[in-house]
Amino acid sequence: MPGPDVTTKQSQSDARAYDVIVVGGGHAGCEAAAAAARVGARTALVTHKAATIGEMSCNPAIGGLGKGHLVREIDALDGLMGRVADAAGIQFRLLNRRKGPAVRGPRAQADRALYRAAMQDALAHTENLTILEGGVEDLVVENGRAAGVLTGDGRLLRAGAVVITTGTFLRGLIHIGEKKIAAGRVGEAPALGLSDRFVALGFALGRLKTGTPPRLDGRTIDWTATTEQPGDDDPVFFSFLTTTATARQIPCHITTTTTATHHIIHDNLTRSPMYSGQIGSVGPRYCPSIEDKVVRFADKAAHQIFLEPEGLNDDTVYPNGISTSLPEDVQDAFLRTIPGLENVRVIRPGYAIEYDYVDPRELQATLETKRLPGLFLAGQINGTTGYEEAGAQGLLAGLNAARAASGGDGVFVDRAAGYLGVMVDDLVTRGVTEPYRMFTSRAEYRLTLRADNADQRLTPVGLAAGCVGGARATAFAGKMERVAAAKTLAGSLSLSSSAARRAGLAVSADGAHRTALELLAYPDVTVQRLVGIWPALGDLSADVVEQLEIEAHYAGYLDRQSADIVAFRKDESLVLPGDLDFAAVGGLSNEVQGLLARHRPATLGAASRIAGVTPAALVALLRHVRKGGQRLSA
Ligand code: FAD
Repeated sequence: MPGPDVTTKQSQSDARAYDVIVVGGGHAGCEAAAAAARVGARTALVTHKAATIGEMSCNPAIGGLGKGHLVREIDALDGLMGRVADAAGIQFRLLNRRKGPAVRGPRAQADRALYRAAMQDALAHTENLTILEGGVEDLVVENGRAAGVLTGDGRLLRAGAVVITTGTFLRGLIHIGEKKIAAGRVGEAPALGLSDRFVALGFALGRLKTGTPPRLDGRTIDWTATTEQPGDDDPVFFSFLTTTATARQIPCHITTTTTATHHIIHDNLTRSPMYSGQIGSVGPRYCPSIEDKVVRFADKAAHQIFLEPEGLNDDTVYPNGISTSLPEDVQDAFLRTIPGLENVRVIRPGYAIEYDYVDPRELQATLETKRLPGLFLAGQINGTTGYEEAGAQGLLAGLNAARAASGGDGVFVDRAAGYLGVMVDDLVTRGVTEPYRMFTSRAEYRLTLRADNADQRLTPVGLAAGCVGGARATAFAGKMERVAAAKTLAGSLSLSSSAARRAGLAVSADGAHRTALELLAYPDVTVQRLVGIWPALGDLSADVVEQLEIEAHYAGYLDRQSADIVAFRKDESLVLPGDLDFAAVGGLSNEVQGLLARHRPATLGAASRIAGVTPAALVALLRHVRKGGQRLSA
């Protein structure tokens, strides 16, 4: 990589000013810029306003089921989101605490201002990174590659690779009742030029929509009419490096809609842009607007609303669960039928926003576009929704853009290594029909892809790719040593079945000796219980105990899953050449040939996940590829 970064006044000569340019300072952009800079690429983050870097456009919360896993994975690769969310966290809850470890999801309510400040601070302390304010209007394309960007004020910025992370800004259009406002987010102008460029380059674009609820003045809420929801007493953080909460912890509150709320919404449906036909694009099914809920779940008398504080020094309250695009007078009226909100003042009305996205089947698994080498896309522009989905893609795209700019090869995360891999594979092989968000149910190797072991799965990948810094490398190596030592210890301590039974452990009286590790496989046996027998186990740290217990409890299932993963990776290692002529593959129907030519799957495994590609077609492909000797090692 070239030497230290300089803030250039661009468009000088032919010299490449940056290795990587990242467009957009949202969740994808921050991770992309930080990842590229971490691996040594001279990186510029170009965004409309430096002050809105790290802005949470919607709910002031990070994580949750599936999403919490992604944040842990970002953290394992030394990304920013986990540490920033921990610094801004004002309420931590581990969702599904009582369920199995595969589906536990860390979540935190964040102070919006603290989050933004912590993200901006993290970027300000990132070497090799320059932040430039400006709106990017066009891409520079040279010799069939993305070679830079043009800003609205006429600056030409050159780079070896470009990452676009423009969120909901591409031809963004806000709807509030009958009102339509061209905007990328409330109060911010849309990006128009980039959409035109994508169309001109032949990219397949689509249109999606999302929505946000009104913001309320907490001083006008009757909190006594709501139910308090405290955070966890023993907070679980996102980052493997965080040890304690820094911000003051506060509770959230819960209220519900009423039949009166539903009547008002029903009576005004024709004024909702979604029902009047003013909005034609598809929104997130799992995160419906309140008008959608009232129509789709007509038999429900009430819907829960979480009243989430936007910050410690901010009276703004985010009513999670009632996103709406109804006109302001209707929003005002229905809010007053909700317990606690009878006299509420609305600070800002809810709205829906429609925007362009690029069909993610235009992408390779590195998030580089197939159509234009050197151009990477990440975040909402790829049809996803959510900060965590955006951040994880951003990290991968930034890392790969830096590698592409220096002539390196791509870094992939497969479906068996992370939720990041699941998401990217879903996007690039199947595309989207609605805004894509992460769920644990999307992963087939859930027990392996736990939030608690994200570091063990991905920090080695990050170390190999050069995007993990010294502090994390040391902490990770230390933890692995402690886990290994604990396993050795627990494997060396043993007792007879009669001694175990005398200690109250429900093992069969078969005279066999069992190690502490073997005893931990029993349902009710925990390290805490074994400390009474072997006090040395009492010295183990909480993170090590967690690993020992989970691995011992689920050893059988994990072994079986490992065997499945070996089979999966065998198919993934069968690479389909980028220029493969599917018409030349014997035994493929015209329909399947067309599907494969359109999707251009990178591996036999990816081909198998395309809807419409039959088992017979896979056999034909396998035969063809074997004949050509395309097998790579996994
Ligand atoms: P963003 O966070 O939107 O960041 C885009 C950045 O790019 C901004 O900094 C912008 O200034 C910059 N930018 C854009 N165009 C240009 C340009 N041409 N030149 C320079 N800079 C540019 N997610 C959920 O999970 N649940 C929800 O309920 C939900 N509701 C939402 C409601 C609304 C109204 C909005 C706007 C978003 C909502 N989201 C929701 C989505 C969530 O905010 C996004 O998924 C997430 O922020 C996407 O991150 P991103 O980095 O892709 O884009």
